[in-house]
Amino acid sequence: MNLILLGPPGAGKGTQAQRLMAHYGIPQLSTGEMLRAAVAEGSDLGKQAKSIMEAGDLVPDGLMIQLISQRIGREDCANGFILDGFPRTTAQAEALDAMLAERELQLDKVIAISVDEEALIERISGRFSCTDCGTGYHDSFKPPAVEGVCDECGGKNFERRKDDNRETVQARLQTYHQQTAPIIPYYDADGRLARVDGMAEIRAVGDAVLALL
Ligand code: ADP
Ligand code: ADP
Ligand code: ZN
Repeated sequence: MNLILLGPPGAGKGTQAQRLMAHYGIPQLSTGEMLRAAVAEGSDLGKQAKSIMEAGDLVPDGLMIQLISQRIGREDCANGFILDGFPRTTAQAEALDAMLAERELQLDKVIAISVDEEALIERISGRFSCTDCGTGYHDSFKPPAVEGVCDECGGKNFERRKDDNRETVQARLQTYHQQTAPIIPYYDADGRLARVDGMAEIRAVGDAVLALL
């Protein structure tokens, strides 16, 4: 199963990817996570990406295409993958089709999750995650069952993303509308696109996604 989760920042891509990953046993490939790891590591890619991410802009296509091309070639992707945060531009979407064709692979579905702008800002403002296992949470919408303790791993350390602040969020939303939303018609044209109402509760959105697959 090869899937893309598409949608603006805060739509719930990562949240739904975690459920799909557990359901199908295929990895979530989050380019945002990969870039944050590169920044933390201080690699060349991380050095190039850091200020771009802090400004809410996009890292250059060439770097992202190379990153994802290497990643889908790894063994854990043999049964499929869930792309979260890639492609984000028409150039990335075209490059993805080329790299899949080269490997004789196809996309099963591109799932576009739509959420109102106000709700996106609310979701991003309350987002945090477990430092130890990466599980995502929200102050109001998905708090851990026991305050301060991760449901999945029992860890007690949590973090918030540096770019999840009001100003950067506005820039990221603008970037989404200008550069990423135009790829929706690209996938709609050949019937690969499916739309899901992301305004529903987490569980209901997940049920709707699974019903499509
Ligand atoms: P969100 O989940 O809020 O949409 P991500 O974690 O996917 O955010 O991405 C964080 C940042 O990393 C983006 O704002 C952008 O700067 C960079 N980034 C992630 N994926 C890509 C990509 N495919 N192309 C270019 N930049 C990317
Ligand atoms: P994305 O990966 O698209 O940027 P996330 O999956 O990180 O988005 O979700 C953003 C925030 O909103 C997280 O704190 C998450 O717990 C919360 N969230 C995700 N889906 C929903 C939903 N359907 N209803 C309410 N909150 C949600
Ligand atoms: Zn954890």
